[in-house]
Amino acid sequence: MPDHNAVAAFHELLRRIVSGSDSVAAAGRSPRIMALCGAGLSAASGLSTFRGSTAALWHTHDPMKLATPEAFAADPGLVWRFYAYRRHTALAVKPNAGHYALATLARSLPDGSFLCLTQNVDALSLRTGHPPESLRTLHGSLFDLRCVGSNRKGRFHCNYSIEDDFTEPLVPALAMAAEGVDETATTTEQGKPLLLPHIPVDELPQCPKCKSLLRPGVVWFGEALDKEMLRSIDQWVAVGKIDLMLVIGTSAEVYPAAGYIEKARRAGAVVVTLNLDAELQQGRRALGSRDFAFEGSAADLLPVLLEPLIGKLEKPKAET
Ligand SMILES: [Zn+2]
Repeated sequence: MPDHNAVAAFHELLRRIVSGSDSVAAAGRSPRIMALCGAGLSAASGLSTFRGSTAALWHTHDPMKLATPEAFAADPGLVWRFYAYRRHTALAVKPNAGHYALATLARSLPDGSFLCLTQNVDALSLRTGHPPESLRTLHGSLFDLRCVGSNRKGRFHCNYSIEDDFTEPLVPALAMAAEGVDETATTTEQGKPLLLPHIPVDELPQCPKCKSLLRPGVVWFGEALDKEMLRSIDQWVAVGKIDLMLVIGTSAEVYPAAGYIEKARRAGAVVVTLNLDAELQQGRRALGSRDFAFEGSAADLLPVLLEPLIGKLEKPKAET
């Protein structure tokens, strides 16, 4: 049995997977690799997560309470200030070598061989030129906008949405956030939240079709993930054997994302965990005899681990 963190043994496995000799029955078919990415992938770009340990960054308004449909209904201006700031922080950093390694993997394998699920809403994978057809943004994107418009009886819903809108500021009322000021975390000298001037609804991002409010295209607490996207993932999983499941920078505790690890395992996948605390995780106990776990930053690990499939990763040129 190979060591769970032996790079050479992992490279050997990758070579067997691409040569089709990992399973006699599988000879001649394309490899199938799935990845599940979390905040740890973007951490190496300098982007902190607003969930979990860094929640204290947003010390005056609890981000858990801002990322809800109820908060948006109560004060869309406050929620938009929070998201305008998050858009700004995501735009202010660059994708790292981990994002580029995954994008290169997507381009190196035959079509349909790689499916990359990400819980990140920062669009950093997209900015590497990762082929969108092999990317599923489970929790949406900070740069997607959609209309909340409906008529009073709720029978009509405006279906307007726009993807990958990197405009900064979206509207003049959100200019402060676009300059890197987190207004939702400004405090008085006594440390109390500063009462921010209310932004009138008509000064917030507006639907060009029906003039209703636009909201960030992210999945908020209490909201369901996009059904069509989930169906497309299930269809990919159902095609047949999965050779490899990469679990990158996520403690994989959030469902349904976490469930994909088990689905991949049932489909025959070797599970590979890449995480800063891979050696500590309770997941180590759940490590199967064929599984791997590598401790470290995804930006350092992915280019090295995937080298048999993607070659030496070139220093990223300018973003596409
Ligand atoms: Zn609309």
